[in-house]
Formats: sequence, structure tokens, C-alpha cells
Amino acid sequence: MYSEIVMEHFKNPRNVGEIENADGIGEVGNPACGDIMTFYIKVKNNVLEDVKFKTFGCGAAIAVSSMVSEMAKGKTLDEAMRISHRDVITALDGLPKKKHHCSNLGSDALHRAIEDYQAKLQGKMYEKPGDGPEVCECPVRDIEDPEEAPYCATVCERSSK
Ligand SMILES: [Zn+2]
Repeated sequence: MYSEIVMEHFKNPRNVGEIENADGIGEVGNPACGDIMTFYIKVKNNVLEDVKFKTFGCGAAIAVSSMVSEMAKGKTLDEAMRISHRDVITALDGLPKKKHHCSNLGSDALHRAIEDYQAKLQGKMYEKPGDGPEVCECPVRDIEDPEEAPYCATVCERSSK
């Protein structure tokens, strides 16, 4: 079901933990799997000097967090912001379709940590997008088969009213 790379990252996840006094923190959750990911970043001269994460969730979510942390380390903020859902899946040599929402979380959490850092630079707290009533913030909103995320559908419907 899983590629060797996924299994390897799942068994030996890289960069697990928390960064004390992190420059940016990004947390996302996935109601469908119950995955919760938090990314911590340390930034120096616009480069991600260190990236760590804490993930509670399914095996795919753990492998994804580990891979995203490796991909992001040493990159500039702009480069890291361009790591896409697709890039993560490709780097892991594929993921079962049902698990694609878990891979979305990884880059989302990283991007959110960077946005948190940038917002702090500007002297304001980062406001989560989607706090407004008409924006759907559900992390599984872009999975292809809505059947796979009945919870998401309910949440999105509710928040759009
Ligand atoms: Zn998951």
C-alpha cells in the first residue's frame, strides 16, 4: 500500500520535536483522519535554518511531516512556500489516493509557520485565514472524491451559511 520511502520515513521520522523560541509556528488539523501537525521553524537570513514538527496522526501524516521537514530545511522562505502538495507526494514516491489529504497537511503546516513568522516580522499576530464565515478552512476541501470526506462537506456547508 505504501512506498518504501513512506515506510522508511514513517519508521524513522526526521526532525521530530519542538524548537524552543521558534520564529514561526504553524498548526493544521485534519478532521477526516484525526491528524494534527505542528511545524516549528527557525529562520536566519531568509533561510529555513531549522525545521521541526510534532505530528499526531496516521502513518502517512508522520511520513509526510518528516519528508516536508527535510525538503524545507536549508531553503529560502520563497522556495519553501512553493513546496506544493504534489511535490510532497512525488518525493514520497506516491501515496494512496485516500491519504492525499494527509500530504496536503504537511505543506500547509509549513506554509502557515512561514506566514506566522512573516506576520510577526510585521509586528502583528498572524490571523488564520478562513476565520470569516464564508471561507471554508477545512484542510481536506480539495480532495477529489467528496465521499472520502463527509465530515469536510458538512463543515464547509455549515460555514458557508
Ligand atoms: Zn491521515
